[in-house]
Amino acid sequence: MTDLEGKKSYRSFTLGNFRKIPQIQQYLTEEQQFEIEVVGNVLPFKANNYVIDELINWENAQNDPIYILTFPSRDLLKPEHYQNMAEALKSGKSKAEIRTIANEIRLQLNPHPAGQLEHNVPMLNDTKLMGIQHKYRETVLFFPQQGQTCHAYCTFCFRWPQFVGMDEFKFAMKEADILKQYVQEHPEATDILFTGGDPMIMKTRLFRQYVEPFLENDRDSHNIQTIRIGTKALGYWPYKFTTDPDAQDMLDLFKQLVDAGYNLSIMAHFNHWAELETDAVKEAVRNIKATGAQIRTQSPILSGINDEASVWSRMWRTQVNMGMIPYYMFLPRDTGAKHYFDVTLEEAWYLFREAYQNVSGVCRTVRGPSMSAGPGKVQILGTEEVLGQKVFVLRFLQGRDPDWVHRPFFAKYNAKASWLDDLEPAFGEEAFFFEQEPSHSLHK
Ligand SMILES: *Cc1c(COP(=O)(O)O)cnc(C)c1O
Ligand code: SF4
Repeated sequence: MTDLEGKKSYRSFTLGNFRKIPQIQQYLTEEQQFEIEVVGNVLPFKANNYVIDELINWENAQNDPIYILTFPSRDLLKPEHYQNMAEALKSGKSKAEIRTIANEIRLQLNPHPAGQLEHNVPMLNDTKLMGIQHKYRETVLFFPQQGQTCHAYCTFCFRWPQFVGMDEFKFAMKEADILKQYVQEHPEATDILFTGGDPMIMKTRLFRQYVEPFLENDRDSHNIQTIRIGTKALGYWPYKFTTDPDAQDMLDLFKQLVDAGYNLSIMAHFNHWAELETDAVKEAVRNIKATGAQIRTQSPILSGINDEASVWSRMWRTQVNMGMIPYYMFLPRDTGAKHYFDVTLEEAWYLFREAYQNVSGVCRTVRGPSMSAGPGKVQILGTEEVLGQKVFVLRFLQGRDPDWVHRPFFAKYNAKASWLDDLEPAFGEEAFFFEQEPSHSLHK
């Protein structure tokens, strides 16, 4: 699928056409193909020719991290859910019936974790701004409407409801002007984070409209200093920054933002070092860095994909060698197929520590393992024995209330815990400190 000039043209594969992928025909049994169909009818599925041709080692597909990251497997669904959908497909139910069954299953998969719908949606003149989230004082999240999809879909994704047509879960908003107006009224906001989905799915022409108001010569009217773009394009479609027809325009836009005095930071999602090895990603990183933008990296820890310390230390080292800055290691959110990718808090901490101990200081800009939970981003500092009781030591990296940040706290040790909700306060306390105090948060 490389055309005459060596440019790669994007081809995506979804449920309708994935059986046409030559590697699927060659390496997967009919049974395995059916499993993709069953799970893909509940959770979103999309892959593209770059991921298929350049990232996956098909000889060992069932154990390949990028295959597991993009192609659904049977165990993503609980057995009873899998059974329901498999039977529906085998008995030739109508599309509408299949959709009803899919939605029933989806509603049991905690489609909006961490209260994303109820909280954090700000107001402007009595109107709810559905495309904006403002949870942490300094940083406003913006979800551009046309950026709410991705070049391929991750099987662990916590934004999955918006890819399957559950429209009420869609955060999106067209008006960049409203974003500007909002930050003008909120001088405490220094950062805007464009997120999705993947804003880098947008053509440059379209993405430019969203940042254009910030290129106007009125920097005094707001306090935005950093513009961040959360994206998986470097991992899933690096041609966005190399040979796509509007790649140069995007790079020019980045440079314009840098020249306008913004700290431009690309928040790149990489889940495995295998995504850092191709010529295309190397060139894309060089091109972005040449604009003056920085690239920070983040990923959740995922069982079966990257749950080995050596995968992380190699990933961080390679990122730093390429000029990127390791930023966060997350725990997977409590939604969708979490049960499949789950690691416990203790396992994640051991793994983080081992990986961190095996890299030099330049890689230790990374923080984690961290849970993005309702009250904030909570980091696991470790387990310890205090006053004869085994406890987890934790702290907030970000808090709904800024005063919570970097305050250590303790939870009863629980070997099975994999999320904040699984934890109880240590030493007989009735509640954690952040549950007791009135919150001074911006939006309650
Ligand atoms: C992580 C996150 C941010 C950004 O936090 P930083 O620590 O500044 O990177 C902003 N808003 C929400 C809701 C987040 O989860
Ligand atoms: S790139 Fe991000 S938003 Fe898109 S599917 Fe993957 S995790 Fe979800």
